[in-house]
Amino acid sequence: MKIAVLPGDGIGPEIVAQAVNVLTGLNLNLEMTEAPIGGAGYEAAGDPLPDATLKLAKEADAVLLGAVGDWKYDKLERHLRPERGLLRIRKELNLFANLRPALLYPELASASTLKPEVVSGLDIMIVRELTGDIYFGQPRGISTLENGEREGINTMRYSESEIKRIGRVAFEIAMKRNKKVCSVDKANVLETTELWRQVMIELSKEYPEVELSHMYVDNAAMQLIRAPKQFDVMVTGNIFGDILSDEASMLTGSIGMLPSASLDANNKGMYEPSHGSAPDIAGKNIANPLATILSAAMMLRYTFNDEANATRIESAVKKALADGYRTADIYTEGTKKVTCSEMGEAVLSALKS
Ligand code: NAD
Repeated sequence: MKIAVLPGDGIGPEIVAQAVNVLTGLNLNLEMTEAPIGGAGYEAAGDPLPDATLKLAKEADAVLLGAVGDWKYDKLERHLRPERGLLRIRKELNLFANLRPALLYPELASASTLKPEVVSGLDIMIVRELTGDIYFGQPRGISTLENGEREGINTMRYSESEIKRIGRVAFEIAMKRNKKVCSVDKANVLETTELWRQVMIELSKEYPEVELSHMYVDNAAMQLIRAPKQFDVMVTGNIFGDILSDEASMLTGSIGMLPSASLDANNKGMYEPSHGSAPDIAGKNIANPLATILSAAMMLRYTFNDEANATRIESAVKKALADGYRTADIYTEGTKKVTCSEMGEAVLSALKS
C-alpha cells in the first residue's frame, strides 16, 4: 500500500508527522514517501505542484496531505501560488467526490456554539461533488458590455453522468451507515439542479433500502442549525457543498477536529484536514493534529477498505479525548493542555493500549 505524504506548508509538517506516527504504529505494510507541495513545492522546484510530486501522487494508492498556503506567497503570480498546487492535484487525480464528516465527540459538546442537546450525538456525512458545477462551467469571465458596463459570468452545469457518479458515492456510503440520503438542490429555480433531483430519484431505485429525501439548499442551511441530527448523508453539488460543509463543520466546535477525503472513481483518494495551514501558529507545536489523524483513518476505510484499523484509530482519538488531553484550540478548564506532538503520542499510546 503506497501512500504519498505531502505535508505542505505552515502547520502541515507538524500535523502530518503525527498522522504518520499513528499509521506507523499500526504495523501495516505501508510504504510512505514524502514530497513537497504548495509553498514548499515552490521553494523546492519553483512550482506549487512539482512534476516529481505529481508523479509520486499518481503512482500512489492514496495521498495524505497537510495543508498549503502562507501569506508570504500572496504576491506571487496566480499560477505559482500554493493553492494552485492543491486545485491542480485534485483535478489531475480526478477527485470528484469530497467526503466531509461532521461528527461531534461528546467530550467536546461544550465547544459548539449550539446548545449541547441540539448537537450531541451529531454524525453527518456531507458528500460534495468537487470537479463540476459553477466553479468549472463555461462560459465564464468578466467582459465589458456595449454600454461600457462590466458583466461577470459563471455557468452552472452538470451532466447526467456527473450527477450519477456522485449520487452513487452517497448511496454506497449511506448503505454502510443509517441508510438515509438527503439530496440538496435548488430545483424550484435552477434547471441544473432540477436535473440533479431527477437523476437522484432514478438512481435511488437501485438502492431500495436507502430512504431518499430532497431539500432546497436554503432550507438545508437552516435545518443544519435548527435540527442537525435529522441528517445522515447529505449529497450536493460543488457550490452548495462548499458552503454547507463549512457550516456543518462549525456545529462541531473546532476546525482542528475535522478530516476529509476526496475520492476518484476507483476509491483512490486524497486525505486531508478540513482546515488550512494556520500560519499564525505554525512552528509552535501547538496545532491540533486530530483532523489529520482522523483523515488517515478515512484513508484506511475508503481506499484500503480496512474498517478495523480505521475504527482503531478513531477509538484511540476518542480515548485520548476521554482521558482529558486537549490541544489549545479545544482546551477547556479541567482538561490537560498538550502540544501537537503530545496529542499525537496520546493517540498512539491509546492505540497500543
Ligand atoms: P486556517 O484554517 O489555516 O486557519 C483559521 C484559524 O483556525 C486560525 O486561527 C488557525 O490558527 C486555526 N486553526 C486551523 N487549523 C488548526 C489546527 N489544526 N489546530 C489549531 N488551530 C487551527 O485558515 P486561514 O487562516 O483562512 O488560511 C491560512 C492559509 O491556509 C491561507 O494561505 C489559505 O489559503 C490556506 N488554506 C489552505 C487550505 C488547504 O490547504 N486545504 C484550506 C484553507 C485555507
